[in-house]
Formats: sequence, C-alpha cells, structure tokens
Amino acid sequence: MRIFKFGGASVKDAEGVKNVLRVLNHEGIENTLIVISAMGKMTNAFEKIIDSYCQKAEDLNLNIDVVRNFHLMIINELFEEKNHPIFIEVENLFGQLSGFLIQNKLTDYNFIYDQIVGYGELLSTKIVSAFLNENNIKTSWIDVRDLIKTDANYRDASVNWELTSKNISKLNQQQLHITQGFLGSNSKGKTTTLGREGSDYTAAIFAHCLNAKSVTIWKDVDGVLNADPRYFSTTQLLEKISYSEAIEMAFYGASVIHPKTLKPLENKNIPLYVRSFYELDNNGTTVEKGTAIVPEIPCFILKQQQILISISALDFSFMVEHNLSELFKILHNYKLKVNLIQNSALSFSVCIEDKFNNFKQFSSELKLKYNISYIENVSLYTIRHANSTAISKIEQKGKVLLKQATKGTVQVVMQ
Ligand code: ASP
Ligand code: MG
Repeated sequence: MRIFKFGGASVKDAEGVKNVLRVLNHEGIENTLIVISAMGKMTNAFEKIIDSYCQKAEDLNLNIDVVRNFHLMIINELFEEKNHPIFIEVENLFGQLSGFLIQNKLTDYNFIYDQIVGYGELLSTKIVSAFLNENNIKTSWIDVRDLIKTDANYRDASVNWELTSKNISKLNQQQLHITQGFLGSNSKGKTTTLGREGSDYTAAIFAHCLNAKSVTIWKDVDGVLNADPRYFSTTQLLEKISYSEAIEMAFYGASVIHPKTLKPLENKNIPLYVRSFYELDNNGTTVEKGTAIVPEIPCFILKQQQILISISALDFSFMVEHNLSELFKILHNYKLKVNLIQNSALSFSVCIEDKFNNFKQFSSELKLKYNISYIENVSLYTIRHANSTAISKIEQKGKVLLKQATKGTVQVVMQ
C-alpha cells in the first residue's frame, strides 16, 4: 500500500481538487489510500464558529455562512449537474452540525471543539471523493472515526494502537479509500482530534498499520528545503534526509515533519516522500533510514521573538546545581520554553520563548533572588551541518549576542 496525504493548501479551491485528480492520473491509483485535511484555511474558520458558539456570540450564524458558502462555491464550480448528490451530502453535514449546536448541553470547550472542527475534514473528503467518482476514479469514502480509536483527551487525543491496527487491517486493500486526516473517535464514539496539523500523523498511522510501502505528502513546495523561503532569499531542496535528521530539525524549530509523524514510520522503516503537487516529475524529498542529509549542505532554522536572559546570584555565588535546578523549576512553572543554555561561573544565560505571556511575572519572581538582565525580541539561528561560510552569512545579519557550537550544529543569538 501507498498512503497519499493532501493538506489544506492542496485542496484550497476547485482548481486544487481538480489537481488531485491530475496527481492521481499521473501517479496511478493502485493500492493507494488517500488522507485529506480540511480545505484551505477551513480549520481556522471552524475555530471561529466554535468560539462564537461557546461565547454565545451574535456572529455565530455569520461564521457558519462563511464556511458553508466556501464549500458551496467549490462544489458549484466542480459539479455542473446541480442535482448531483454531493449538494445534498454537503447540506446534510451542515444539518448535522446545526443539530449538534442546538442539542449539545455540555460546556467542555475541548469536547465542543472536536465535535465541530471535524466537519472540515468530513466536507473535504466527501467533495473530493465525489469529484473523483465523477471523473472515472472510483473511490470508497471512509469515516476515519470508525478506524482510528483514541482516548478522550479532546484536541490532543492519543491513539489506541491495538484497536486502531485491528480496525485498519480489516480494510479491503483493493479499493481506493479516501478518508479524513486529523480525526479519530473515543470509546463513546465521540469525535476526537490528534492536534492541529494532525493529518500527516493520520497518514503515518495508516502506513504503520498497513505496513505500507511509502507515505507521500503532497505540498505546494518542492519538498523539504534547507531554509524557510519566507526568511531566506536562497534555498535549496534536500533530496534525502534521515528520520533522525528530520527530528533534529523539528527540535530546533524547523517546520518540517512533526516527530510524532516520523516515529510510526521510522519504527517500520517506511519512507516518507514530500513532493510538489504542481511539479509531478520532480522527486521531492525522501525521508528514510540512512545518510543524514543529501546534498550535505548547511540548513538554517530561525526562531524569532526570543528573549535572551542572563541570570546571576545576588551574592555573587557560583551558578551551580542547586540554583540551576531551582531556575529550571521556575522556568517550567511559567511555561517558558528554553531553546539555548550557556553557563559560566557567575552567570547563566538562557534563550527562551514566552508563548503564554508569562515573562513579566517570571522575571519579578526571579528578581527576588537573582540579578537578571535581558534583551527581548532577539532571533535564534540554528545552523545544522554548519561551515564557516554559513556561519558568517548569519553573523552578517546583525549583532551576535551569543554563539554556541556543538558537533556540526551552531546556534547564534542575534539582535
Ligand atoms: N485541518 C487540520 C488543521 O488544519 C489538520 C491538518 O491540516 O493537518 O490543523
Ligand atoms: Mg489543515
């Protein structure tokens, strides 16, 4: 089996859905299972519905209309026959959504979130499936919630691998199945989700359970690049990277493939291809066991809006185990993410990320016991497979505040 995953960007409009057909005609459909996310930015749009519903806000119907009109526009463009069953199927899904909104008595935000957000994937898969059927590719639509079983940790559910593999192994592999990314269900049959951007993970779950030959993630970029084109003017395609290289890159902040997705593949040695859904003759990037990186070029990862803080004891005592362990505890309590550490006898520097806006409180607590100085809004550059040219390229970007090198990986904090 091969698993294909199409993300929101690949089905952001009618053209995108037509392009899925083009990809399948080009690649063939034998022994393939397709995982699809919600169309375009629809998950965000559903989040607006969820928020207005929970806050009993007036714009609830308006927000539903946005999502409804978006899908209606796409099916109007895709299906000339206005009495094609897809029109009713789409309306039915919106009917079910309204039913939930009216009948639901529970107030748990995370539960409500999962019951509503999942319609994004149900809609996209219904539409793509119907469109392919209309164009001579017979598909079988499956409700992934019948297969992927999870705990009840809404919005970040954990997979029950035993039940899930049992369910997935029963699939008839002769058919071209289309199913939803991101979703699962718990033992009560309620919809759960695997965390934002969870569709890649869904593809990996299917691959793992089916002992698939490969997973292909179809994207609007050529593959995995050595730097984020939003911040770097020249980028290069990586032809091959190992699972561990991809995990390292994600650790330093690259928005490559999530380690959660890689783990089930790595365990069974299933290669992951990241390919462009425009340039079908290109190979893209292969993530597999073996050589860390091909070509062996420096990779750049940028984390912005960091805070560099330097901490020393008020009595000039050394920064050693006992105060360090206390510092880490406080950092943890304020949910500050530590991205770089440097220690000397009298001071301890950390580069941190303040996702939850806790830095002010954190620093007031620290000031009771420590001298602190900090610089906000700095950038942390990580260079994997660094060489001197790559390092000086980064150092030219501003003032170097701190630099650290470990085997092949150089990190520079810049202002
Ligand atoms: N639609 C979901 C999201 O946007 C899942 C995914 O796209 O992977 O988070
Ligand atoms: Mg999405």
